[in-house]
Amino acid sequence: MNITLSIIYLITTIAFVIGLKMLGHPETAKKGNLISGVGMGLAIVATIFLHDFEVPSINYMLIGAALLIGTILGYLIAMKVAMTKMPELVSLFNGFGGGSALLIGLVEFGNNSEDATQTSTIIAAIIIGSITFTGSLIAWAKLNGSMKDIRLPKYNLINNLVILALIAFGAYIVMYDSTNFLLIYLLLAASLIYGVLFVIPIGGADMPVVISLLNSLTGIAAAITGVLYGNMVMMVGGILVGSAGLILTFIMCKAMNRSLSNVIFGAFGGADAAIAAVGKTGGSIKKTTASDSAILLNYASKVIIVPGYGLAVAQAQHVIHELEELLTKKGVDVSYAIHPVAGRMPGHMNVLLAESNVSYDKLIEMDNINPQFPNTDVVLVVGANDVVNPAAHNDPSSPIYGMPILDVENAKQIIVNKRSMNAGYAGIENELFFNQKTSMLFGDAKSALTELVNELKNM
Ligand code: NDP
Repeated sequence: MNITLSIIYLITTIAFVIGLKMLGHPETAKKGNLISGVGMGLAIVATIFLHDFEVPSINYMLIGAALLIGTILGYLIAMKVAMTKMPELVSLFNGFGGGSALLIGLVEFGNNSEDATQTSTIIAAIIIGSITFTGSLIAWAKLNGSMKDIRLPKYNLINNLVILALIAFGAYIVMYDSTNFLLIYLLLAASLIYGVLFVIPIGGADMPVVISLLNSLTGIAAAITGVLYGNMVMMVGGILVGSAGLILTFIMCKAMNRSLSNVIFGAFGGADAAIAAVGKTGGSIKKTTASDSAILLNYASKVIIVPGYGLAVAQAQHVIHELEELLTKKGVDVSYAIHPVAGRMPGHMNVLLAESNVSYDKLIEMDNINPQFPNTDVVLVVGANDVVNPAAHNDPSSPIYGMPILDVENAKQIIVNKRSMNAGYAGIENELFFNQKTSMLFGDAKSALTELVNELKNM
């Protein structure tokens, strides 16, 4: 390979590693993203102009047009996307990564068919790429609420048989028929169908795990195509995404108190359990107003804010920061309780609060904040629901049973802000809202918090 190209690939690899490291902290994440992006841009340009392609002529017009269309579309989508739609966008990007791998696999199938390693790599790219593609599209539909969990009869058995059949079918093609295009299209169709079957039953508290797993599969698919072309940058990039995604998957499993096999083969947390859990609570709720809530907060010495998905929907991150600063000025000790799966993507609340410059030392992870609730005068829950639902401790039939939650019910007073009594993502009622210590402050988070801030300013 051209020595200049090798050096550029090395620089790109270093940019990926440094970028990934910097993505690990909100303070450096933006710069890390930029560094990795520049590295990727460099690798693309260098590959186009410096690679010794075996094909006789390169159609620079076609490559340029594809790059231009992709760049414009990517730019417009990224600029326009609302913060609440970010998880869906990430899911789509995952899907496109898988889609690219499957297309590369299809293009390369039949070339070097006598080389079993090459054919196995192609088969792996097609199977993993297809599963990631359709699986991510289903995850996208579930995240934007246009699709509910679907559980076919004996879905676990069917899914496990389909994946085993896929592996056996792939092995058959490698060993006996590595030039048969009909078989490869059949394998493609079956893998695409498995991607759908894999994600449709998963619900409740398991979606975060599946999303990070799909993210990891995208990386693995990219790494496989890197192996196919003997391209170091594709391999390293893919391995970094794949391994980072896998680590995140295990962190999410741990946070949700699930095993990976339970999520994949058990499809926990779905509709049946949710239906069983709805309607178990009931009782009466206590409504409150912004001025009564402001009095409670004003005279508290320790307040914990619990942000959830509704905070992102309302885009209330700036006003909650204002509230926190106001209370701190009044001598109240204020911190935020961060649940690992609050919101709709891993790290959602950290990203959201970083946007409004909340100091990072005020964001306390679940394990560290839970022991603090008994000494807390007021907990202000804003747009969070599942992550504070005691059913996770008390109700074995609940789809979130066993998931660690923020134990806000241990605090002295609880104020919950949301718009109605509607359920959260898992679709279940929350007995916390009926707790004697809880007052419901109904309304959109942004307007409710603005009112609260105004009341506090007048005190
Ligand atoms: P939930 O989805 O449980 O609840 C959010 C609550 O916010 C709703 O009950 C809603 O009630 C309220 N809300 C919505 N809009 C507003 C608004 N404008 N103002 C005030 N409140 C609002 O969120 P949590 O963060 O508690 O839990 C996250 C859930 O998402 C978990 O079940 C998790 O498993 C799942 N999930 C998480 C992912 C991740 O990676 N983080 C990925 C996929 C799923 P109302 O309509 O009454 O206002």
